[in-house]
Amino acid sequence: MNLSSLGWDDAFQAHFEPYINSDFQVARVIRAHKHACDVIGAQGSLIATCTGRLLHETLTHAELPAVGDWVVVRPREGEKNADIHAVLPRRTKFSRRAAGDRDMEQVVAANIDTVFLVTSLDENYNLRRIERFLITAWESGAKPVVVLNKTDLHDNPDEALAEVIAVAPGAPVIALSARDSIGLESLDPWLKTGSTIALLGSSGVGKSTIINRILGEDIQDTGDISHENGKGRHTTTRRELLVGPSGALVIDTPGMRELPFWQTGMSAVEDTFDDIHTITGQCKFHDCRHNGEPGCAVHSALEAGTLEDTRWQSYLKLQREQSFADRQANASLERAVN
Ligand code: GDP
Ligand code: ZN
Repeated sequence: MNLSSLGWDDAFQAHFEPYINSDFQVARVIRAHKHACDVIGAQGSLIATCTGRLLHETLTHAELPAVGDWVVVRPREGEKNADIHAVLPRRTKFSRRAAGDRDMEQVVAANIDTVFLVTSLDENYNLRRIERFLITAWESGAKPVVVLNKTDLHDNPDEALAEVIAVAPGAPVIALSARDSIGLESLDPWLKTGSTIALLGSSGVGKSTIINRILGEDIQDTGDISHENGKGRHTTTRRELLVGPSGALVIDTPGMRELPFWQTGMSAVEDTFDDIHTITGQCKFHDCRHNGEPGCAVHSALEAGTLEDTRWQSYLKLQREQSFADRQANASLERAVN
């Protein structure tokens, strides 16, 4: 594997200088998980673990390797394993605040060059949300590109395009239909060999569809990595950094997808679904779970058609994602402590 096709360049090389003249190599993290990272370097893929010294010197969780990081490794002779001695300085990073600790930063992904902020031109379309995504993107250091997906569902995509351009100074805005493969070529300028992209956007806006279009449908089959777990059994995990036919690297990690919720918290979901909040406030029981209880206002509203089932379902989905995000945060806290 050629390092530049993984995104390596002179600036990273300069950071690596202090490690030259030893048997160190560099590798890119394609997945960070509980006990080890999957990395890929000039010699191919390795399972790499932080040395005790690195863990000891690491002051915050944010300094530990994240997907997209370049790490300094020393492969163990004759094995597919390596030790991670250092994480090279990051060019860009997407962080979240770990749950339960206000000051604890967790890096979700690193060294992303371009982030596609995906919105769909249906009920998800919301200029305020696009503004929030832009703030997140600018904070990360990655260049944002606003992608308006599902043009096929909008009567006047050009009008939406003009509105978004007005709230997104400095960011290119692109409209396309991933499902119908219309307008996808307008993403090409950011899909060059060795450049790293990621997608940010609410659930259901079409991120997976766009990724599949970028990578080609079958990439996910080849993206799996086999691990031997402690009990000698093999488990398969999905890579979170994938290379498409264009040569672009796509970071697709659940953490990245959940990012807006991690950053803004459940209140943002509640704000977005203010109408549902009003309805649930009218349920007979204060702790109604809206699951067949007597006097459930949600049930009545769905029956009467004053609440769209799709909207209710997407609210439930977002709630689940938020609790998933919280659990992930707790898991990473545990990881930091262990
Ligand atoms: P994600 O949650 O952001 O990854 O969204 P998905 O890629 O899973 O897409 C959610 C739904 O939107 C799926 O049913 C897709 O088939 C659909 N979808 C994706 N792109 C388009 C599009 O351009 N037009 C329309 N009408 N539907 C789309
Ligand atoms: Zn109810």
